[in-house]
Amino acid sequence: MIINDETICAPATALGGAVSLVRMSGPSAFEIIRSVFIPSGKNTDLSNLKGFTIVLGEIRDGDELIDEVLVSIFRAPHSYTGEDSVEISCHGSPFIVTRIMELLLRNGAVAARPGEFTQRAFMTGKMDLSQAEAVADLVASGTTESHRIAIQQMRGGFSGEIAKLRSELLRFASLIELELDFGEEDIKFADRNELISMITRVMELSDRLAGSFRLGNAIRNGIPVAIVGKPNSGKSTLLNVLLNEEKAIVSDIPGTTRDTIEDTVVISGMMYRFIDTAGLRDTTDVIESLGIQRTNEKIMKASVILMVDEVLEDAVKINQRAESIRKMTEGHDKHLMIVINKTDRCDAYHIENLKSLVMTGADESLLFISAKNNHGIDTLKDSLGKLFRNENYGRNDVIISNLRHYEALTHVSDSLGRVVSGLAENVPDDLIAMDIRQAIHYLGEITGEITSDEILGNIFRNFCIGK
Ligand code: GDP
Repeated sequence: MIINDETICAPATALGGAVSLVRMSGPSAFEIIRSVFIPSGKNTDLSNLKGFTIVLGEIRDGDELIDEVLVSIFRAPHSYTGEDSVEISCHGSPFIVTRIMELLLRNGAVAARPGEFTQRAFMTGKMDLSQAEAVADLVASGTTESHRIAIQQMRGGFSGEIAKLRSELLRFASLIELELDFGEEDIKFADRNELISMITRVMELSDRLAGSFRLGNAIRNGIPVAIVGKPNSGKSTLLNVLLNEEKAIVSDIPGTTRDTIEDTVVISGMMYRFIDTAGLRDTTDVIESLGIQRTNEKIMKASVILMVDEVLEDAVKINQRAESIRKMTEGHDKHLMIVINKTDRCDAYHIENLKSLVMTGADESLLFISAKNNHGIDTLKDSLGKLFRNENYGRNDVIISNLRHYEALTHVSDSLGRVVSGLAENVPDDLIAMDIRQAIHYLGEITGEITSDEILGNIFRNFCIGK
């Protein structure tokens, strides 16, 4: 455990609320609060108070009353940071918060860096690194699903399991290294069958977790959706109904949606990032061709492609356009949805006929809508929602959403894959031990047993001040 000798403080709430919170943590937290805070109860002595006590009183700068506040007391190790901590709940005025901060700093506290409270919680062993990272995700979570995976990770999600597997691997690595110490004598301490079954278990876990990243990343960052199609087919109108607001420029002139517009919408707890694009039409217009190049780029960036056409369009052309998208995206994991718009312009017979002529591949959907009249939009939203309801993952399964974890897990699988093939091919034991050590290293990177200032810096830099 690392003991910090500095006492840090920071405002923990955003400006503008009725109440603000100023946090302070470190060995001098109680001493500093005693020098600026006068409890209302005459006989109240902060140094005798138990943890989890709240005290009413006044923050004073000499004779000047700054605010009437509540101070919450947390005694080490029973606090967020694991250190002695106090939280001052004051009136939500930026002026008061600044005055309190000034007072604390003047009395010996230092201003906390972004994420420093959580970093201390990690350093005192209150949480491991993946749990600390989940705190930032939790603060940022804006949908049911992103909230769920952040909570799960914060509660220890997979870190317990990883730590256990890591210590078993450590045992094997030590045994093999012991064998190496015995040099020429052919002594085997590590049971090879047990080792293989152990490694298979670790690989299964790391493969399962790494495999969940695609979904986890989609949940965390939103699913990119490209809306493409001929100019005037109704892409902007569709985007507008989906977003329910006038974000895109709707116009009657073909090819006028020149700029890309991005916005998000939440459907069944998942966030979708819609990307509006210029038309797919073959044109010599310079600006428009820039749009077409951009359309292709958007298609490659998207997970879902909504290809919009009109009901009165020739089925052959619709099929050609869909086919060109299929060619472009072949081998990439993308979903194509063919959306036929303006159903208000024809009768049911025409729609049925078109339905039979437009070809769809496996996992593709064909939808008929009238963007203008808001018809078929709910079905479209349902279809979008279903694409990412992944049957492979139940509600309680751990899903990883962090690129750092994904990369570490991929390294774990690679190293262990080499161990398995090495064992089969009678590769020298020192090489096997090296690969096991590597897997151990990467497992440790996830939970924070192995860290560098660079890793920690990267993680906590993205936190807000006061967290
Ligand atoms: P974009 O170029 O693909 O973005 O097309 P817009 O969204 O700008 O729409 C082109 C024209 O088609 C506009 O005049 C829209 O009002 C019209 N439009 C869009 N959707 C429908 C629809 O469902 N039915 C009818 N009749 N017109 C539509």
